[in-house]
Amino acid sequence: MPGVRRSRAGPILVVLTLALAGCGREPQLVDRQFLAFGTLVDVSVFTRSPERAHRAIDQVREALQRWHETWHPWRGEGLARINRRLAAGRPAELSPEIRDMLVSATRYHRLSGGRFDPALAGLVRLWGFNGDEDPPSRPPADAALRDWLAERGSVADLTLREDRVTPAGTGVQLDLGGFAKGYALDRAVAMFQAAGVENAIINAGGDLRVMGQRGGRAWRVGIRGPRGGGVFAAVEAADGEAVFTSGDYERFFEWRGRRYHHILDPETGRPARGLRSVTVITNAGGLADAAATALFVAGREWPAAARDLGLDQVMAVTDDGTVEVTPAMAGRIRFVDARPDRVEEVSWQ
Ligand code: ADP
Ligand code: MG
Repeated sequence: MPGVRRSRAGPILVVLTLALAGCGREPQLVDRQFLAFGTLVDVSVFTRSPERAHRAIDQVREALQRWHETWHPWRGEGLARINRRLAAGRPAELSPEIRDMLVSATRYHRLSGGRFDPALAGLVRLWGFNGDEDPPSRPPADAALRDWLAERGSVADLTLREDRVTPAGTGVQLDLGGFAKGYALDRAVAMFQAAGVENAIINAGGDLRVMGQRGGRAWRVGIRGPRGGGVFAAVEAADGEAVFTSGDYERFFEWRGRRYHHILDPETGRPARGLRSVTVITNAGGLADAAATALFVAGREWPAAARDLGLDQVMAVTDDGTVEVTPAMAGRIRFVDARPDRVEEVSWQ
């Protein structure tokens, strides 16, 4: 009825105009939390349009939860289907997303001298770090590890042509866990951009990406301390930056007084040694995540590995508790409680 329409048009127009104009409201912080990627994701948006922010966060939450399922190496019909084909020595069709991830992951494999390898699903499973379940209670048998090392393949053994991947044998299955979170946060940032969200921080259990600012000031973010000791340092993160940390405290078990954790050295087939944690700041989540894993594997040789990956903002905590920083990182990091006993700037040219 025309009468009814007329009486509604006024309020609807007003609401629309206010929403489009940002309605002159004071910007406010919208903060939401949800579970995805096996961790608590915290999203903060600084905005004049909380409705828009909530809608965009709903989209991001749905996507992150879906990706986590689709990228599971053994469960479901996404990456798991591809892995079943590869295990049978047969070619597999890739979705555009997984293809894109494989292309990036192959580049990080090369740039990291093979330390980052997204083809370690079999090894990760041998160690029992493959699921969302509790970690195992003891290392695999030496014989099983020897067999794995003898048959060992890498992502470089896969041939990618258009959207089809072909294995050389049966030993290579994909585990994108070393950089899936970073890649996912990059995609989430793109979703926010498309939705008109400009100032936000998406923090997945301490690994995060930053967009814009918070009311004209940089977002201040915490860096996780080694051995899960809470926030240990803080940094003001600029628009577009990603801050990622890999550590030996995320998933581990102890056996006969030794710690066995989930970041594996493809060279030895065993948990990497030398560092407790590595934090990387750069301008893309996928690179930051893959690099944090790769530098953790590099151990005390991390500075050379960082240069090869084109990074200059890195902090590593070594086995004996020394905090090693690149000059670019030293210039911006603030320790939250007491300054650690030993902080050393590594030489850099
Ligand atoms: P988190 O995901 O806990 O932040 P990482 O980004 O370092 O930590 O990823 C660790 C995960 O990556 C492991 O659980 C495993 O699935 C996978 N992984 C382990 N070792 C490697 C490696 N050398 N290269 C690539 N991925 C790895
Ligand atoms: Mg990683």
